[in-house]
Amino acid sequence: MRRISVIGAGQAGTILSMALQANGFQVDLYTDKTAEEILHETSPTGTAALFHRSVATELRLGCPGYDDKGVPMDALHVCFSPKIGQELVHFGSALGDAAGGAVDVRRKSYDRMVRLAELGGNIVVTSVQPDDLDDIAAGSDLTVVSTGKYGLSSLFARDARRSVYDTPQRNLAMVLVRGIPTDGTAFPNRVEGSTGVCFNLFGDAGEIFWVPFLHKSGENVWCLVFEAKPGGPFDCWADVTTVEQAFATASRLARDYAPWDWPSMRNMEPMLDDPHSWLKGRVTPSVRSGLGTTPGGRPMMSLGDTSVAYDPVAGQGAGSGIRQAGHYFDALLARGDGPFDAEWITRTFEGVYEEHIAGTYRFTNLLLEPLGKTPQRVLTACFADQRLATRFAQVFDAPPTAFPWLTERAAADRWIGEHTGRRPGAVVAAGTAKILAGQVRNTLRGSHFPRAVSA
Ligand SMILES: Cc1cc2nc3c(=O)[nH]c(=O)nc-3n(C[C@H](O)[C@H](O)[C@H](O)COP(=O)(O)OP(=O)(O)OC[C@H]3O[C@@H](n4cnc5c(N)ncnc54)[C@H](O)[C@@H]3O)c2cc1C
Repeated sequence: MRRISVIGAGQAGTILSMALQANGFQVDLYTDKTAEEILHETSPTGTAALFHRSVATELRLGCPGYDDKGVPMDALHVCFSPKIGQELVHFGSALGDAAGGAVDVRRKSYDRMVRLAELGGNIVVTSVQPDDLDDIAAGSDLTVVSTGKYGLSSLFARDARRSVYDTPQRNLAMVLVRGIPTDGTAFPNRVEGSTGVCFNLFGDAGEIFWVPFLHKSGENVWCLVFEAKPGGPFDCWADVTTVEQAFATASRLARDYAPWDWPSMRNMEPMLDDPHSWLKGRVTPSVRSGLGTTPGGRPMMSLGDTSVAYDPVAGQGAGSGIRQAGHYFDALLARGDGPFDAEWITRTFEGVYEEHIAGTYRFTNLLLEPLGKTPQRVLTACFADQRLATRFAQVFDAPPTAFPWLTERAAADRWIGEHTGRRPGAVVAAGTAKILAGQVRNTLRGSHFPRAVSA
């Protein structure tokens, strides 16, 4: 039986461990925390909302599903303001086949570790240090490192060209709240009757968005995410140290900067029974090598945030880790008795990089940058035509398919024409007319986006 060591019991490491153990491998999962500690004494690494293809990969790899417990994330809606107070473009759609859900990663890690143990997997509770790696690798056919953005990630070379950035682009915070309905009645100003992602993009300040979320306890709640441009008005988390302060800050930002959603949020409450129901931090977007070496020169393979740290703006990091785990799983099974050597590790990582990571990373970074002319044209067209709004929402399930139409003018026009059967210029003109009408309303009434409850 081939022996695989996996280091790090986040959502990426646990899915691969469980799937391999269930399929004829002997797995040793090294974790710096027990399953109980992950469940009760940590914050979730992030919202980790998954769109359909990632959920399907989880199920294919034998993970327990949560469909019967969590509300679906079944729509996506965007409100775009180039500046705070300038309500410009809004559109959204049901996600249809692209729908997914956000399940607390603490619950996922716990459930998968329990299942791994039931299947005969070996769980070793220790904080693995670089000096331990040669012994671990010597006793395994393959060592996979999934210790997140930090942990042992520095043992995998950072690719400066692929990474693009070398500093965090946003200061982040995330707060779980109860008291916003999860039965489809909240945010009727978005996609009515849905429990979808509500995005608010502000060209000058950053992004704030709400996602339906299945808490580790089984309670359906909402996850509020704040992506602050450094020095801007959302960048006010430095002194926040408690769940009460996090909730107060989140409430103030939601009320002041997303007043169109506030009527659905005014009864929200902090989750005081879970002191870890929030987090703040920064991510330097990074792409690392799939191949690393132990101090003694043995090959190791990176997975999840250890390979790629995405800014959370497009909600792709967890999904990418799942897709990567699925790709590794297939490659491991297909390898037969062949060695998991440096050449195989590099080839396997490059396969999933080309197939999923490169386009997903590019899509994510596009949302961090000022909107270029072609993305502006696409958003204007989405505002005009519901069919395009639906296509745009669904692209979050397969971000590499956003290219070239999201960045190249000719391709954008082809995309608009193909999905509407109309002349692209006419669609964009209709969107521009809607924008102008909205700007008039914005000037006269001080608002333009639909409100959750009309005054
Ligand atoms: C605010 C925010 C919102 C997000 N929203 C989304 C979203 O909507 N959709 C999405 O797809 N992604 C999202 N993400 C990203 C997503 O949460 C992460 O990509 C994902 O959870 C990372 O999983 P992982 O298993 O790779 O790493 P981690 O969850 O970081 O797991 C690593 C594990 O390794 C352990 N470890 C570390 N060092 C060692 C060691 N030396 N020895 C043993 N164990 C060790 C850690 O304790 C941890 O348990 C978001 C992130 C943030 C910050």
